[in-house]
Amino acid sequence: MDVEEFRKAGYAAIDQICDYYNTLPERNVKAEVEPGYLVKQLPMAWPNASQKKRFQKPRTDMWPTGLLSSWVVDPGDAHGPVGEADASLSLPSLLVFPPRLPFALSLTAPPRHVPVEIAADFQSKIIPGITHWQHGKFFGYFPGIVTFESILGDMYSSSVTNPGFNWTCSPACTELEQVVMDWMAQILGLDSDFLTSSGHGGGTIGNSASECALTATIAARERALRTIARQSNGYSDADSLTPIDVPTAIRQEHTKKLVMYGSTQTHSLGVKAGVILGMPFRSLPVHVEDGYALRGDTLKKAIEEDIAKGLTPFMVIGTVGTTSSGAVDYIAELGEVVKQYPTMFMHVDAAWAGIAFALPEQRERLRLAEVNKYADSFCTNAHKWGLVGFDCSLFFVRDRRDLTEALDVTPAFLRTKEGDAGTVIDYRNWQLSLGRRFRSIKLWFVLRSYGVEGLQKHLRSGVNLCGELAKHIEQTPNFEIVTPPSLGLLSFRLVNDGERASDEELNKLNADLNNRLAHHPEVMLTQTLLKTPESEIFCIRFAIGGRTTTLDDVKHVFSVVEAEGKAALSAWKA
Ligand code: PLP
Repeated sequence: MDVEEFRKAGYAAIDQICDYYNTLPERNVKAEVEPGYLVKQLPMAWPNASQKKRFQKPRTDMWPTGLLSSWVVDPGDAHGPVGEADASLSLPSLLVFPPRLPFALSLTAPPRHVPVEIAADFQSKIIPGITHWQHGKFFGYFPGIVTFESILGDMYSSSVTNPGFNWTCSPACTELEQVVMDWMAQILGLDSDFLTSSGHGGGTIGNSASECALTATIAARERALRTIARQSNGYSDADSLTPIDVPTAIRQEHTKKLVMYGSTQTHSLGVKAGVILGMPFRSLPVHVEDGYALRGDTLKKAIEEDIAKGLTPFMVIGTVGTTSSGAVDYIAELGEVVKQYPTMFMHVDAAWAGIAFALPEQRERLRLAEVNKYADSFCTNAHKWGLVGFDCSLFFVRDRRDLTEALDVTPAFLRTKEGDAGTVIDYRNWQLSLGRRFRSIKLWFVLRSYGVEGLQKHLRSGVNLCGELAKHIEQTPNFEIVTPPSLGLLSFRLVNDGERASDEELNKLNADLNNRLAHHPEVMLTQTLLKTPESEIFCIRFAIGGRTTTLDDVKHVFSVVEAEGKAALSAWKA
C-alpha cells in the first residue's frame, strides 16, 4: 500500500467506524455467535502471497470498460469470492464499499483492492463476534471504554511506531510520558513523591494492572533481597545494589522463603504474580462486617505465623475497589503493619476504582490519604473507566530505585550517552519488557480534550446512575442489594420475599437467573461469589461506567433482569 492508497483506505475506515458508532444503540450488546463461528468461516490456508494478486487484471465483463476499473479474482485463491454482498453494510459504507455485483454498479465505484476486501470481511465476519463494550447497555465485568480522542491518539502513536525503550529511541515518547504521568498524579491527588519531577518517584504507563502488579512484585522481591544482603554483608543503605549485586547464595537461600499477601478479594493478579515468580501468595480472609475489605490485624496474624515458620514476608497487595464488590482495603492498617517489617513492600491495586481519585468527594472513602502515606507503588487503569482505550495502566512508584535496582540490566548495545550521564529516563529499566508502546499520546489527547472537568463529569455520571439503580432495586420486590454502590458498581441477588431461603438455596436460584441472563442478547452482566469464613454468596454485579450510558439504558437492562427473575422464581417454586 502506498501513501495515497492508505489515505483512501484510512478515510474509508473512519467512515466505517463512524457508522459502527451510529448504529451501536440499535445493536444487541452481546455477540450472538456460537463457539467456533469464526474459525468455521476462515480458510485454514493462510495467504501465502499477497492477495493483491487476486485483483490484478482489469475486469471487462462486469462494468463498462473505460468508465470504471475493477479487478478479478484469482480462481486459485482459498479465501473465497471477492466482495460478496454484505447485508451488514450501512448505506454510507455501501457507497464507499459497493458490493461487487452487477446490479450494484455505481459510477462512483472505486477500484477494489485488498484493504477494501479485508474491511468488508471485518464487517461481515468480525463485527458479529464482537461483544460491544462501547455500548451504553454494557454493564459486565468493568467499564472498558474508549473515546474518539483516544482512538485518534492511538492512530498517531501507530503512525510513528517505535519501541521507545531508551530516551534516545524517540525523546518525545519518554518526555510526553513523564509529563502526562505527572499530570495524572496531580489529577488523582497523589503525593508529590509519586511525581517524576520529584526526582525520586515517578509514573510509567504499562499494559495492564496485572503486569504492573507483577513488576511491583519483582521490585518488592529485589528490595527484600537487597535488605537481607545489606543486613548480612554490611552494605550501607546508600550503596546502590542491582540484581546482580545480590550474592547468589543469599538469593538462593532467601527467595524460596519469601511469601506475599492479599485477600480472597484481591484480583487474580496477586495469585498470578506469585505463580509466575514461584512464590506463595496467601489469600487472607475478609469479613462481611468489614465490607469484604482486608484488615491490618488479619495481615499481622498471617505475617507472624509465617515468620514463626521461618518464612520471610515481603509484600502485601492492598486493593482500592475490589473487582467483586468495590471494597476498599484498610490501607492505613495494612501500612502500619508493613512498617514493622523491613522486608515488606505495599502495592495498591486500584485498577478500576483508582481513576475516581479524580473526584474530590470520593477521596476519603477510597482512602487516598492512606495510599499517599503508605503505598510503595500504586496502579490504576485509565483504560477501564478513564476514557482511554486499552491499554493504559498508570503505574506510580514512590521511589524509582525500587524499579531500576530490580530491572536495570544494561548490556553495551543498550548504553547511550544520555543514559550513562543519568540525565534522562530510560523506561526499559522501569518495566519487564524492553520495547514499549507510545501510550502517553492517547492519554494526552484525552486529557487535553476532556480536561479534568470532562473526566469528572463522566465519572460522576456513572456514580449517580449507580445510586439511581440502587434506589430502584430497593423498591423492587424479590431483589436485594448484596453490596451497596461503590462508585459505579453494585451487586444484587434475587430472593424470595416470602419465607426466607438459605444462602445455599438462593445461590442456586441466582445461578439459574444468571444462566438465563447469559442467554439474553440485550444483557451483559457478570457474576461473582463473595466468600468469607461465615458465608458464601453468589450474586450478580452491575458495573456502570459507559461513555454514553443513560438512566434509560440502566432501567431497560434491569427490566430484563426483573422479567427473567420472575421466570426463575416461578421455576424455583414449582
Ligand atoms: N485489579 C482489579 C481490582 C480489577 O478490577 C481488574 C479488572 O477487573 C484488574 C486488576 C485487572 O486489570 P488488567 O486487565 O489491567 O490486568
